[in-house]
Amino acid sequence: MKTSVALENDLKAAIRTIPDYPKPGIMFRDITTLLGNARAFRRAVDELVQPWAGGKIDKVAGIEARGFILGGAVAHQVSCGFVPIRKKGKLPFKRVSIGYSLEYGIDEMEMHEDALVKGERVIVVDDLIATGGTAEAAVKLLKQVGAEVAAACFIIDLPDLGGADKIRNLGVPVRTLISFEGH
Ligand code: AMP
Repeated sequence: MKTSVALENDLKAAIRTIPDYPKPGIMFRDITTLLGNARAFRRAVDELVQPWAGGKIDKVAGIEARGFILGGAVAHQVSCGFVPIRKKGKLPFKRVSIGYSLEYGIDEMEMHEDALVKGERVIVVDDLIATGGTAEAAVKLLKQVGAEVAAACFIIDLPDLGGADKIRNLGVPVRTLISFEGH
């Protein structure tokens, strides 16, 4: 699931890096510049799910908030439904929820309990995978309702933090388009 060097360079050039945001030591990878670039946005969306585009996908699940923008576009592209995975307290109907650890403390993410039916094939989408804690919680939430998680796709990987391997160890294939060293 390697992408070409030309594609990597193209996408990297479209991403803005902001050092020490939101706190010292973090290199924030800002995808708003990629989203604002029609060619890079389309390219990223096409490439994210390319290995699965010809197969059966029932839903794309996007993680709040940047996963909504990318996941919505991907769902349109592969003609399937979209499922929002949201921070606690945002969804109006009956929910399933899961706790996950952040750097400081614990948070919860939620999904509508009827967003997927047992056996549906779903692809998880977010902009970036770092430690993998967020994506791991999303995968577990989807499995909790009986969904089959076909893949997890991210534009950016921070391989030094080991998140992609964490998700692969759950038996879920991971696709990332570019990677950056460090945090
Ligand atoms: P993690 O749970 O550690 O894999 O963190 C992934 C989530 O945090 C994703 O939703 C990202 O959007 C966000 N995130 C983590 N690190 C960064 C970073 N360096 N730049 C931009 N977003 C980040």
